[in-house]
Amino acid sequence: MKSRWVESEAADVVARGAETGLEPDLALRLYTTRLLGSDSKLVLHGGGNTSLKTFARDRLAQKIEVLRIKASGADMATIEARDLPAVRLAPLRDLRAVETIADEDLLAIERANLIDPAAPNPSVEVMLHAFLPHTFIDHTHAGAILSVIDQPDGEKKCAEIFGGRLAFVPYFMPGFGLARRAIAIFEQQRPSDGLTLGKHGIVTFGDSARQTYERMIDMVSLAEDFIARNGRLYAVTTAGRQPEPVAAVAPIVRGACSQQDEMVEGAWRRLVLDFRGGEPVLSALQAHSSRLAEGGVVTPDHAIRTKNWPLLLPHPAAGKLEGFAQATREAARAFVIHYRNYFASHNERVGGGKHELDPLPRVALVPGLGLFGLGRSKRDAVIAADIAEEWIAVVGDAERIGQFESISEADMFDCEYWPLEQAKLGMRKDLPLAGQILAVTGAAGAIGAATAKAFAQAGAEVALLDLDVAAARERATGIGGSPLAIACDVTDAGSVCAAFAEIATHFGGIDVVVSNAGAAWQGRIGEVEEEILRKSFELNFYGHQRVAQAAVKIMLAQGTGGCLLFNVSKQAVNPGPNFGPYGIAKAALLALMRQYALDYGADGIRSNAVNADRIRSGLLTEEMIASRAKARGLSEKDYMRGNLLGREVTADDVARAFLHQALALKTTADVTTVDGGNIAAAMR
Ligand SMILES: [Zn+2]
Repeated sequence: MKSRWVESEAADVVARGAETGLEPDLALRLYTTRLLGSDSKLVLHGGGNTSLKTFARDRLAQKIEVLRIKASGADMATIEARDLPAVRLAPLRDLRAVETIADEDLLAIERANLIDPAAPNPSVEVMLHAFLPHTFIDHTHAGAILSVIDQPDGEKKCAEIFGGRLAFVPYFMPGFGLARRAIAIFEQQRPSDGLTLGKHGIVTFGDSARQTYERMIDMVSLAEDFIARNGRLYAVTTAGRQPEPVAAVAPIVRGACSQQDEMVEGAWRRLVLDFRGGEPVLSALQAHSSRLAEGGVVTPDHAIRTKNWPLLLPHPAAGKLEGFAQATREAARAFVIHYRNYFASHNERVGGGKHELDPLPRVALVPGLGLFGLGRSKRDAVIAADIAEEWIAVVGDAERIGQFESISEADMFDCEYWPLEQAKLGMRKDLPLAGQILAVTGAAGAIGAATAKAFAQAGAEVALLDLDVAAARERATGIGGSPLAIACDVTDAGSVCAAFAEIATHFGGIDVVVSNAGAAWQGRIGEVEEEILRKSFELNFYGHQRVAQAAVKIMLAQGTGGCLLFNVSKQAVNPGPNFGPYGIAKAALLALMRQYALDYGADGIRSNAVNADRIRSGLLTEEMIASRAKARGLSEKDYMRGNLLGREVTADDVARAFLHQALALKTTADVTTVDGGNIAAAMR
């Protein structure tokens, strides 16, 4: 590992900091924190922390010695001065006189001593930084360090690798207790560069940002060299039996890792997936799968993201998907039972009172294919997958130089259910569609885009399908979640199949489809060319059928129901003169919607439609509005409000109707009318 300190960059950071009143030390503190944070071999997703002892002015302009410490959960890669809250140092140091302190009391003391009372909470490791006397302190969970300390003889290995430069602190739960033990060992042994925290990570310290940072790089390099020198090589060949594609495997994994809601019939707790293949994952799965299956985090911080064990699945051999599906469901059931037992026994050990987290896996290992990270959102799934990849690499290296050993199950539980760790996830309240995946066709149009946005804001992950992928991408910008734009021509069966395979590969499956793409053709029915009628059916009927068929295939593989929603026009029930080519195809679409409701109700798949009229969109352009209004002798405004309520209907109104249908778990074969009132188009 090489130092990424660049003198000119550092000078630049100091110069820019001076413009906003940052002292050079603080500017450089931010610089090296970002250097550490942007290297995934050192720090992942909010892990690790850094600090600086300096001076600040309080409200009365008095100079006070403070600890600038990374805020809990802040990302080191993008850290700013506001993410390093300043805490009065003297009251923290006074806590050395105390043997134990409750978490809430410690947090209250920290908050009471913040220079800015509105600042975020300091890192859970604040006391470690406060007790050590050094000006600069860096703490990471570097992979190479973890590989050498997550061993039964980790202390011996550290002595061999680092000599007296790092003192070894045996594992203790992060927080106040660890800080007390660390400072005692530091004072006894006086190491020159820092500490290794058994089964947890590394601390380096120094007088300057550069010295502290480069000590971190030096120590990690020593560990890397040790692994390179002593690591056994495994002969692995990843050329094995051909697996089924990720698109076919993911929905099975996702379905098995879902949980029926016991309170609401028909509701499921679902997760989103993120897949990782690649050589390192595949060879590690082949070489160490039985060790990996036993689990054990490489550092306690990971527990809240990955749980303590992965779900180990069999190889999904090509052509044998049914057997794989059965084994996957059994493995997931066993995982849930194991997790529940783990919770129950340790909750009893600590005197009860903990609230059980969902028992679903967060990492699934599939030998010969790769791994899946699972989360309540795509973002959480990506974090779980990132950590799982790092975990596999660390365990693999640990096994190459000895024997990987994690913390005990009891220690693990104490971290997983430590309120201060849970707080890092934030007090997130689930949105109504959290964990669900939506695909919307015609997503670049007015109704498609409004629907994508409404579902994203309700917590769903959204795939926007459109002929014009650039326009879909634009519509995806800023709607929330992690939207995915896909080029899709619904008149082409191959294009629809490819789009749904991409959705299953990227998100893990599908729960709701809004089949919306359409276009209007006109012609007097007795005279219209057959070609026109066929074109309209190709898009306005078969297009929906292809989309629904592709979605249902994935929904059946998941086995957790689903929802098909179709955009039928008022033409389906109330034909307009010379609109036969469009209206008749839409009437057939209405019948299609009912057929899906009938044929797949027993599988929990609902099928509904929205009957909307007179929305400003690609089908009803401003030009058409002007000409129609003129033909009827109306103002454009009155034309758009020509309904019983006298209100203009918007694309957002249609989007909300789709959202309502997606949430109405006891409703199928329904048509929701969104037209401001039109008796001729009323369903009954
Ligand atoms: Zn840590």
